[in-house]
Amino acid sequence: MNSDSASRLPELHQAACQARMNAYAPYSKYRVGAAVMFRGSNQIYAGCNVENASYGGTMCAERVAIFSAVASEGAGIIDHLVLVTERPSSPCGLCLQVISEFADADTRISCGDPETIGDALPLSEFLPRPFNSKELFG
Ligand code: ZN
Repeated sequence: MNSDSASRLPELHQAACQARMNAYAPYSKYRVGAAVMFRGSNQIYAGCNVENASYGGTMCAERVAIFSAVASEGAGIIDHLVLVTERPSSPCGLCLQVISEFADADTRISCGDPETIGDALPLSEFLPRPFNSKELFG
């Protein structure tokens, strides 16, 4: 985590909380917000979960935030991702895999609730052996 995102953790948390208010979760009622900042960028991108009647069309908040960052800035390295749920929860396995695509050893993830940001933990705490391009290309 660089000093920029460390000092902006309250902003990341606030953005995740605001996005969570927009969660479209009529089926699960499980509202999730996320906010992400790429290293070297000052821009915060937020996302919420967006469910679908097909269930399979549902998208998690973390991936909405990450894909929004990529759409706006191109691929980057996630400096910090803040996740907000009613009770602190880890990202799902699919989101961890997507996070790993845009992460390095210094990427940090905080899993909090509306009142607390949560500890800043490395991706390796959640996903010690991600599938990556080395698997594809050696
Ligand atoms: Zn997920």
